[in-house]
Amino acid sequence: MQGWQIRVRGQVQGVGFRPFVWAQAHALGLVGHVLNDGEGVLVRAAGRGAALAALRDALTQAAPVLERVGSVDCSAWPLPSPLPTGFDIAASGPAGAETNAAPDAATCPDCLAEIRNPQARRYRYPFANCTNCGPRFSILEGLPYDRVTTTMARFEMCPDCRAEYKNPADRRFHAQPIACPVCGPRAWAEVGGAEVQGEAVELAAQALMAGQIVAIKGLGGFHLACDASDADAIARLRERKRRPSKPLALMARTDVLTRHATPTAGEWHLLKSAAAPIVLLGKTDSLPEGLAPGIGQLGWMLPYTPLHHL
Ligand SMILES: [Zn+2]
Ligand SMILES: [Zn+2]
Repeated sequence: MQGWQIRVRGQVQGVGFRPFVWAQAHALGLVGHVLNDGEGVLVRAAGRGAALAALRDALTQAAPVLERVGSVDCSAWPLPSPLPTGFDIAASGPAGAETNAAPDAATCPDCLAEIRNPQARRYRYPFANCTNCGPRFSILEGLPYDRVTTTMARFEMCPDCRAEYKNPADRRFHAQPIACPVCGPRAWAEVGGAEVQGEAVELAAQALMAGQIVAIKGLGGFHLACDASDADAIARLRERKRRPSKPLALMARTDVLTRHATPTAGEWHLLKSAAAPIVLLGKTDSLPEGLAPGIGQLGWMLPYTPLHHL
């Protein structure tokens, strides 16, 4: 029996890293705990040397999709007495300045399937997320990354969400921004400062189709949006923003995008990456010139939150 302390630095908070460590440690029959602290993630584990080495290798190599491991350092962990009987995710340690929380990530395929499934609890829910996707940095108010240090702290989890949050087999195990229509934030629509009845996403879609301008409050601020194929709407949007000629970015589903541009394999890869960046693509004459006057390219992005997908 040996005790190891494994220190993981890098962008390892808010990306399902602790649940990942928990699952590995359980599979290897180790006891101990994992916690977030100001320097990153700290693992203290006891068991056979080979199992401890396997855990270290797993943390270095086979980590979850999002996280970026900076360094993994091992030192001895003096075995506590009595020895822990299992492996736990412990409360966070003190905050330091060293750890960066991960950036926001575009909606994952699992969450997308969920908001489109009429049977699912989060059917058409604009704020669905899990440990593989959703807001991180934008909701952060402090470190370490835990629900109490995010803007989600004011939404108390409902029993269903709490059960998912506590279930190591669930993809929302320790997902700090976990939410659902019962307990999470909701979307609403306003016209001229007054709330209007109806489903906000429906109303916004109707307004866009009718050539109106919609201000969509997103994670990081407002997006002013209009129908990109409507030259009049674009002109009014430019007037509203007082931007006569600065290029406007476009958001579209992949099938719509392919009608107006032909991205290379590399450009598709960028468009579909978790960071969901705006990618400049060659312009065709299928869309109004007013989008980017005198410029041969248009900036495109794919929908990256459930709200956009809906
Ligand atoms: Zn997800
Ligand atoms: Zn809930």
